Formats: sequence, structure tokens, C-alpha cells
Amino acid sequence: MTKQLYIGGAWINSMSSERIPVINPATEEVFDYIVAANADDIDTAVRAAREAFDNGPWPAMKGSERAVILRKIAAGITERKAELARLEVMDNGKPYAEAEWDIEDAAGTFSYYADLAESLDDSDEVISLADERFSCKAVKEPLGVAGAIIPWNFPLLMAAWKVAPALAAGCTMVLKPSEVTSLTALVLAEIVDEVALPPGVLNIVTGFGTDAGRALSEHPGVDKLAFTGSVPTGSTIMRAAAKEIKNISLELGGKSPFIVFADSDIEAAVEWIMFGIFWNQGQVCSATSRVLVEEAIYPQLLARLVEEANKITLGPGDEEGVLLGPLVNESQYCKVLAAIEKGVAEGATIACGGKRPASLTTGYYLQPTVLVDMQEDSAVWQEEIFGPVVCVKPFSDETAAVRMANNSRFGLAAAVMSRDNDRCERVAGQLRSGIIWINCSQPTFTEAPWGGYKQSGIGRELGHWGLNNYLETKQITTYRSDEPWGWYIKP
Ligand code: NAD
Repeated sequence: MTKQLYIGGAWINSMSSERIPVINPATEEVFDYIVAANADDIDTAVRAAREAFDNGPWPAMKGSERAVILRKIAAGITERKAELARLEVMDNGKPYAEAEWDIEDAAGTFSYYADLAESLDDSDEVISLADERFSCKAVKEPLGVAGAIIPWNFPLLMAAWKVAPALAAGCTMVLKPSEVTSLTALVLAEIVDEVALPPGVLNIVTGFGTDAGRALSEHPGVDKLAFTGSVPTGSTIMRAAAKEIKNISLELGGKSPFIVFADSDIEAAVEWIMFGIFWNQGQVCSATSRVLVEEAIYPQLLARLVEEANKITLGPGDEEGVLLGPLVNESQYCKVLAAIEKGVAEGATIACGGKRPASLTTGYYLQPTVLVDMQEDSAVWQEEIFGPVVCVKPFSDETAAVRMANNSRFGLAAAVMSRDNDRCERVAGQLRSGIIWINCSQPTFTEAPWGGYKQSGIGRELGHWGLNNYLETKQITTYRSDEPWGWYIKP
């Protein structure tokens, strides 16, 4: 470990002597250490961000000037793509090709928000008032100091989803990556250090959630909390935000349904289901974890899904041809195995997978798993598993499918497949989720809103919604009449 904390535009040493081992989930070996920052480190970082916001040039700069720097960050990420992708594989376990995709997406996010930063220069909105004695406009201003806390499933990409819009808006930020996967965030700090971002605009502090994360969410110098992670942590962060009425956005868990009608192309359905649940080892908030299949094609679809799932090549993410790597760490591996066991105890049948592959004795590997026969109220059907585990159930008709899909405390994403476009649109309108995919599942676009209904979160990231997360709207009203107001003082 050479670099510790990036605060105020410099690498500084932590006030904590605690270190977190970085473990490669494919080998179970410790290959690095990161700092477990404490509340004092967080305080230093928030003060740096506060100073940069209150007295630094960044919030007052034109959007087009900020865009220049955001594009340099995008270029810096692209230049170090291979190194970043390799680090992501070692830290998170994902296959290299997926890691490359993430890094390209992260660079693209910075480029996209550079364009949106430019658009802010021309964003004042004239409000037409019925009372013509006044003129009125609404202007957008940066919200302040943002505290961002992110998970381990898409380490650099989740950082980009928060850092890029916050910086585009003119905010300053303290970012706390997940203690499980912090390495690419530290490289992001190196990239930022080279692009002449004013000191304190972006501060990156590694550490545990219950120490550094809690200190950040409770710090009175933070104006906004942007969180992605689990529902219980989101709830804790919301309570912390409530104390000082901090602005908050939450991107939480999911249990996303995929409804397949009998007129669908079964091969296409199987491909999208697999893309939805085996990508990133199923450790995806919007993962296709509940599949609802119309009774007429249930046996055929299940047979093809099991056949294809059994063909997936498992192994270390840096090995050619691997499509499923290890789960991120031992704790996640145990959680997923426990969820499968509980599912079976509650009546589910394992159609395939459910165990460590015999050929991989080291690393947190789990076979692609398909479960069937579970009850609708069972934990395996209702709770997020966050692993390569898909539950499949038959349905009788459209009404039943929509009811079953909506019978969840989550509402992040849902998908529907049918050759009948009217039916797809009708079902899309009835599903209580923030993202609906028709005839596909999972493709995610920087330009489009991302976020959930119900316990899947509050607010939207990406697109102009993502930028708005970091903006305040100010009303400026001018009295332009020569007539005295004349309420107390009569003319
Ligand atoms: P997690 O909630 O355990 O941790 C997320 C982050 O919160 C980490 O940085 C952690 O250190 C921090 N944290 C933990 N306790 C904290 C506390 N008390 N105060 C402040 N910070 C704290 O989640 P995870 O296991 O890292 O990620 C998996 C979860 O994230 C899943 O539920 C998944 O669905 C969700 N997720 C959602 C999205 C989305 O866009 N909706 C995207 C990715 C992941």
C-alpha cells in the first residue's frame, strides 16, 4: 500500500493505524491493504470539501470550464483502462471483459456529464407570471458538499455515477468506496490529481461503513448524502440525514421480475434471463432474480435455461473464456449459500447448480443456480440474494403475472417479453418499478433515469435526473413596476 487518503488535493496519511486487507476472491489471497479511515479522517476530508465549496473556485466556475476537467478525467480513465480493469478483476472477481465494459462506462459517464455541465451555462428559466409587475426566473446552483457512499459490485462505475454529476453541478464531494473494493477509487484519485481539479473538490477516503461511512453520513458539514447499497444501510443513512435535513438520494436493492409470455422466442428469453442473472455473478441490484413464465412454455424454457446455465465456464476473471467469476468475498459466498439452503428448506427444488463447482476448490465460486417450486411468500422468492441464483415460477395469465411481479417490497426493475407489443406496453404501465425492460433485460444507458420505487430507493441517478441530484433551484423575482407597493405606506 503506497497511497492512503486523497484529501484537499494531496495524498495524506490516515490518523488511524487500522488497515483492511484486500483479498482476491479467485485465490482467497491478500494482495494489498487499504486504510480504515476513522472519524477524524472524515472530518479532515469534509472540511477540505467545505473549504473548496465555500471559498474555492469550483462552484462559481462556468459549466463549460468544469466540462474541460471532466473530459480530462474521462480521458485519464480511458488511458488506464487495462490497469483499472485488471484491478477490478482482482478486487471484485468479475470476468475481465465485464470489467473492461465497466471502465468504458465509467469514462463515458464523465464525458456525458461534461456535456451536461456545459448545458448549465444556459439553464436559467424565465417564469412567466400572471402579475406583470414582476419578472421571475429559476436558476440552478450547486447544492453544496456531497458525501457519497458506494457498494462493491461495480466499484469504479458506481463512483462515476456519483462523482461525475456532482462535479458537473459544481458540488464538492467526499467519496467513501466500499471497504471490499476500494482500489480503483484510489486510481481515480490519482487521475483527478493530474487534471488540475482545484484542491478539496474531490476527496476519497477508504474505510468501513460503520466507522468512516457513519462519520460521513452524520457529519454536519455535509449538505447531501448520495448512497448506493443495501436497504438496511440505506435506512440507517436516511436516519442520519434526518437529523440535519440533509438532501438525500438512495439507490438500494431489488428482486426484479422478468415476465415471459408464451408467444416469446424461448432462445431470446433464455439469453436475456442469463444476461440478467449471471452477469457480475448476479451481484447486480437490478438482477433478473424472479422469472415468471407463462404455463404453456414453462417446461421448455426451464429445460433450455438449465441446459445453458450448466454450460457456463466458471473460473478466475482473468482467464480467457470465463463468463462467471467468484463471488466478491467469503461473507457474500456464505450469504448466498445460506439463502439457497433456506430456499430448499422452505420447499424450493434446485433445478441446477447450488454448490461449489468440484473443479474449483479455492475461491468463492458458486455454480449458476436455478431454483423452482418455491412458494410466493418464501424468502428465496421475496428477498434479494445477490448471487447467480434465479427463481423460476409459472403463471396462468397476464393478470396473475402482473400481480406476482408487483408482489414485492422492492421496485427497482422489471422486464416483460412477448411478441405482442400492445401487451408489453400495457404490462409495462402496470409494473411498479423504476426501470422496465421490454424484450430485453439489464441494458443500462447513461442518458436514461435509474432508480427504484418502494424500498428500492429514493430519487433517480443518470441522465439529467442524476445532475439534478446535485443542484438547488433558486427563484429570483424582481419587482419592476414604478408604482409603489402601497400596503402599509399609502401613496
Ligand atoms: P452495504 O449497504 O453493505 O454497503 C454499501 C456501502 O455502505 C459501503 O460503502 C459500506 O461501507 C457503507 N456502509 C455500511 N454500513 C454503513 C453505515 N452504518 N453508515 C454509513 N455507511 C455504511 O451494501 P453492499 O453489500 O456493499 O452492496 C450490495 C447492495 O447494494 C445490494 O443490496 C444491492 O442491491 C445494492 N446496490 C444497489 C444499486 C442501485 O443502483 N440501486 C447498485 C448497486 C448495488
